[in-house]
Amino acid sequence: MLNFDDLWVRSLPGEVEVKAGSRQVYGQCYSRVQPTPVRAPKLLAWSAEAAEILEIKPHDQWAEILVGNRLLDGMQPYAACYGGHQFGHWAGQLGDGRALTLGEVVNSRRQRWEVQLKGAGPTPYSRRADGRAVLRSSVREFLCSEAMFHLGIPTTRALALVATGDAVLRDMFYDGNPDHEPGAVVTRLSPTFVRFGSLEIFASRGETQVLQQLTDYVISHYFAHLGPPGLDCYYAFFDEVCQRTARLLADWMRVGFVHGVMNTDNMSILGSTIDYGPYGWLDPYELQFTPNTTDRSLRYCYQQQPRVAQWNLARLGEALLPLVKEEKPLEESLDRYLRTFEESYRTHMWAKLGLPVSEDPLLGDLLHLLTQVETDMTVFFRNLAQVQEIGEEIPSALRPAYYQPDLPQPYQQAMGDWLGRYLTMVGHDAGRPRRMNCVNPSLIPRNYLVQQVIDRAQRGEVGGVEEMLEELRHPYKDREPDDPWFQKRPEWARSAPGCSALSCSS
Ligand code: AMP
Ligand code: MG
Repeated sequence: MLNFDDLWVRSLPGEVEVKAGSRQVYGQCYSRVQPTPVRAPKLLAWSAEAAEILEIKPHDQWAEILVGNRLLDGMQPYAACYGGHQFGHWAGQLGDGRALTLGEVVNSRRQRWEVQLKGAGPTPYSRRADGRAVLRSSVREFLCSEAMFHLGIPTTRALALVATGDAVLRDMFYDGNPDHEPGAVVTRLSPTFVRFGSLEIFASRGETQVLQQLTDYVISHYFAHLGPPGLDCYYAFFDEVCQRTARLLADWMRVGFVHGVMNTDNMSILGSTIDYGPYGWLDPYELQFTPNTTDRSLRYCYQQQPRVAQWNLARLGEALLPLVKEEKPLEESLDRYLRTFEESYRTHMWAKLGLPVSEDPLLGDLLHLLTQVETDMTVFFRNLAQVQEIGEEIPSALRPAYYQPDLPQPYQQAMGDWLGRYLTMVGHDAGRPRRMNCVNPSLIPRNYLVQQVIDRAQRGEVGGVEEMLEELRHPYKDREPDDPWFQKRPEWARSAPGCSALSCSS
């Protein structure tokens, strides 16, 4: 059975008495809560790989436990307090408004994993919202968490998806027409769910002692290799968060992932992807793409992400100021962030071309060309591995990457020239396709694919979730040109709800 260890609860200050009602919680890292029972829990999907972390097998009992209807011995549910900068502005206290941690499990490999339910009812941090999550957003989080893992990108994990049997009222299009939708709970796993905003809240309130307690806690248990917490260690800690975040952002950019809500409360201190909301993936390579319909200023669009992460890190650095003497080392880490991001990004992008890193303008020229006509990023890079020679026309392997049937002559000329330069540079290299196929996914959880699974699930065909998960387990495998999982976004999905852009309603 699960081996619970209440390290967070016993190490950090918190509200130990369970009290109902939304409120401001001062000087505490968490509030003890109880999940709110639901009517008819039903297990919809299960991730065997995530279950392996906890060393558990699927069983009928999990539906009730992983929806919050039944607690196991050792579980001490709590909701964490945190704040955050949202869309560039300090938003004050946010906290786990619909997430709650059931407990921390230590497995036989002595790894510590927090087990968290998302959508299990209100907490002191729910403000005016209901603490619930709808099926569609839960399917999205479940599938994308596991997809990220299989793509090799740091992420929180998803263990299970459980339908609640209760309806949830949501205004999906933010147009004043709320409707009832099926509710669900996702079980998420992460060594810790501490966010930048978890430290910011205490700095913002001048609660320096708690700030230090939580920082020391994070360092001692998740950055232990940096040595005991203390002045030098705080600089090293910030530097490492910057480095991890830089590498995460390079990973997002290489696969065309757009988080959609990069507020500081949605940035993991571990440098993992966290809080899957209105995320999306580039279908056409479009630098200004944002999946989030609320983000009118394009603050969180694809190309802004590396800069936004640096801005968010600067807010984290400010939160650490009360613990350090000088700003300079923190500023240096922020500069180093950008250098690491750029280096990591370039390494990935050249690998996508099957070439060693170089200063040659070849890469930049391609990225520019990809913006000239609607070109599917995933299909283009994946199929580029097959291009061995060029004639008069765009090679047939690349045709499926284009969204328009007729390509302008000047574009064809320019792409032909580019391919000529590319093939000269790669020369005879039999290993190139295999190398490229290891880094260019043939499958990412594009919004239109996930939306089809959601539509089926809402009609009661829940098997589609695990069917897609099975495909997502093999993001780099060879797929036939007509494989339905390996298609650019079809025309019908261009502006269909959920298939390209989404609201934050979830
Ligand atoms: P998000 O945009 O999902 O990262 O959420 C921002 C904040 O709003 C977090 O504090 C969430 O816990 C809270 N929140 C979002 N949706 C709900 C909900 N349905 N009920 C309670 N709190 C919510
Ligand atoms: Mg969030």
